[in-house]
Amino acid sequence: MKKALVCGAGGFIGGHLVNRLQSEGYWVRGVDLKENEYGNNNADEFVIGDLRDPKLVEKVVTNDLDEIYQLAADMGGAGFVFTGENDAAIMHNSALINLNVLEEAKNKGVKKIFYSSSACMYPEYNQLDPDNPKCSEDSAYPAAPDSEYGWEKLFSERLFFTYHRNHGIEVRVARFHNIFGPLGTWDGGREKAPAAVCRKVASAKDGGVIEIWGDGKQTRSFLIVHECIDGVRKLMESDFIGPVNIGSEEMISINDFAKMVIDISGKNLTVKNIPGPTGVRGRNSDNALIKEKLGWAPTLPLRKGVEETYKWISDQLKKKQELESQTASIA
Ligand code: NAD
Repeated sequence: MKKALVCGAGGFIGGHLVNRLQSEGYWVRGVDLKENEYGNNNADEFVIGDLRDPKLVEKVVTNDLDEIYQLAADMGGAGFVFTGENDAAIMHNSALINLNVLEEAKNKGVKKIFYSSSACMYPEYNQLDPDNPKCSEDSAYPAAPDSEYGWEKLFSERLFFTYHRNHGIEVRVARFHNIFGPLGTWDGGREKAPAAVCRKVASAKDGGVIEIWGDGKQTRSFLIVHECIDGVRKLMESDFIGPVNIGSEEMISINDFAKMVIDISGKNLTVKNIPGPTGVRGRNSDNALIKEKLGWAPTLPLRKGVEETYKWISDQLKKKQELESQTASIA
């Protein structure tokens, strides 16, 4: 039986990855600062701990592991990453995690390690035109990410490749593009655009208004988490070290995305654009390389993933509202 360590197992993608690995017959140890807030805690062994602490990393990275999946990071959506207030924490915390985990993987002779980088490392100058962004893997340099989060990802990708070159560790590096889906953060300030829009639509009264940050013409593509995990596993099983995009090529403006969610909800709502942090003007995955190297790319239509996610978030919202009204009636 293969043994894997999932760092960030209490998070959104990490929680889904644990389930997938187990369904493939792996024994999985998860580690995170916290348990998954939606109950997605199925690791065979779940360690609550801080990966910035080398002593904790020494304990969880054991020499019987076949694979490590390093997904732990201090991260969030535009409201967390682009305000500037969290920059030092983002760089310090995520870099320390990557430094510690890689060094211990080398010490313990772990053979294979996956790292989740982000499309946020691509240069801003190639993402100024919302209708024609460039995010092919070879367009990363000269580097000019628009956030410190992106700079840290670029540094850490490079760190992983140095451990490959100097210490012979098999690394696999993917650049995720906006992953969304059920069991992901949908409120509290760290949620990303798809979940935030679903929550706004689910909370709005029929005939009301939902607010969207920016002019709404900024474009993105969004990938449902199940297909992201397919890509991660295919990359791990391949000989290609990366970096490679794991994302959807179905680009959409944020206002059109909001209209799609409104349509799914069946409500009659108006979109109002307001000032807010937005990130680059345009971004889309370029899947030429993943198709060439893995013979695969995600294909599920965006709408399918949004239907699943909207349903999950509106159920979460209902549960939260019921709980609040019960608490209010007791008080
Ligand atoms: P997430 O925030 O849900 O998961 C990250 C997890 O890391 C969290 O559970 C957090 O508690 C944990 N963590 C943070 N600091 C830690 C520490 N010091 N010790 C132990 N655990 C710690 O985020 P996610 O969306 O599941 O993202 C997973 C990975 O994918 C991250 O590296 C992220 O940067 C990357 N990524 C995600 C997206 C996306 O759209 N979700 C896009 C690009 C890249």
